[in-house]
Parts: sequence; C-alpha cells; structure tokens
Amino acid sequence: MPTTLNVDHREIAKFEALASRWWDRNGEFKPLHDINPLRAGYIDQHSPVAGKRLLDVGCGGGILAESMAQRGAIVTGIDMGDAPLSVARIHTLESGIEVDYRQTTAEQLAAAEPASYDIVCCLEMLEHVPDPSAIIAACARLATPGGALYFSTLNRNPKAFLFAIVGAERILHLLPEDTHEYAKFIKPSELAGWIRTAELTMEGMTGLLYNPITKHYRLDAKDVSVNYMVHASKPE
Ligand code: SAH
Repeated sequence: MPTTLNVDHREIAKFEALASRWWDRNGEFKPLHDINPLRAGYIDQHSPVAGKRLLDVGCGGGILAESMAQRGAIVTGIDMGDAPLSVARIHTLESGIEVDYRQTTAEQLAAAEPASYDIVCCLEMLEHVPDPSAIIAACARLATPGGALYFSTLNRNPKAFLFAIVGAERILHLLPEDTHEYAKFIKPSELAGWIRTAELTMEGMTGLLYNPITKHYRLDAKDVSVNYMVHASKPE
C-alpha cells in the first residue's frame, strides 16, 4: 500500500486484531456501544437522518452505521481495516440492517464521489490518523452543499490523559492498553481551526462524559474536557 495514504498501519492493525470482539457489548468496544445511543440521538436530533444519504468514515464494525440505518438513513460505511469490515458485513446478515460497506479512505472516496452525502460522520477516528486535518477536508468534499458533518475525538489536556488513558485503559480496563496515544488527542480549538480551513461552519459542540461511579455516559454541552463531539455544516 502506498505510504502517501493518510493511514497509520499500526493503528489499523490494532483494530484488525480486535475485530471479532466488535459486537460483544461487554468486550473491548463496550465504550462505543455505551455511547452510541447518545451520539446517534445527537446526530438525529440536529440532522434528522431518515431518508438521507449518510457516510460513516472509519466505521469499524458498524456500531454507528447500523444505528443510523435503523433510523432510516441510507448508509455507506468506509474503513481501511479488513477484519472490521468483514465483521460489519456479517453483522448486517444477522441484524437484517442494510449498510454499504467499502474499504477505502475518505480522501479516495472524496475524489470519486464529491458532494454526495447529506450527512458525514467521522467518530472516534481522527485521533488514529497521521493527518486529521486532511480527513476533515475530505469529509467536507464528500458532503453535499448544505450538508451536515459530525466529528468526535478526545481532547488533549491533563484531565483527558487521566480519564482516557490512565482511568479507561490502565485502571478500569474499559479499553485495551495502548488503544490511544496522548499526543494524537485533539483540542477543540485545533478541530475548529481545521473545520474553518475546510470552509465548513461550526454549528455546535457537546461533551460526552463518563461517570465511573454510576458507569453511565451523558452529553454535556458545557464540558468538552475529555471526549467531545462537533457538529459542522457545509455552506449551500
Ligand atoms: N467510528 C467507529 C469506530 C471507531 S474505531 C465508532 O465510533 O464506532 C476507529 C476506526 O477507524 C477503526 O475501525 C480503524 O480501522 C479506522 N481507521 C483508522 N484509520 C483510518 C483511515 N485512515 N481510514 C479509514 N479508517 C481508518
């Protein structure tokens, strides 16, 4: 594979190795299952997805993609991992939910199908790529004029290090060790800058908070200190 692609193969390998566990609600991907109703609700509330063409970039085993299809979206999911995509395809056979899964990058798809998706989602993936700003630019090209875009990632500050790496990986074992690399976390100001550079408009932002005592997640617009999600739009 050409090294010019904006893909970190060590990152892809991590997800390949865990792929069979993707739909185990109590396994390594439990946090993604737990936050999914919240993020799916946030997207559907701000951009009702029924009947819309929705692209999920870095879809993995398809947790968000299936939930969006279930809400009536016409979903395409892309990922560079082989095994996660196989798991995603097999899962649609079990669930009966239709999703078009393809192995490609956002940049390649943007060249082939520009301005094709009403809603473009790229969740929990930007912190795993060499150049996240290029992914945002590609997502901007993929969106239709007037389309909506959603990005989520982890903030970079001492609290995020403590919660997302020390707490989630080393103490609570919510995620396997080395899932995340602190240096790749992204500050909201950086994400907002890349959104502006891609000529998108920032529409809103919300934090996704985990309470280790109650073991519940919730959205909080005022606290983006650890995990957060951004809503942007492409001008008409
Ligand atoms: N978005 C999903 C999965 C997040 S895990 C969710 O939130 O439920 C991150 C996923 O990004 C993995 O499946 C990994 O294979 C994929 N990925 C990492 N780098 C990528 C790249 N450059 N292009 C496409 N997918 C990538």
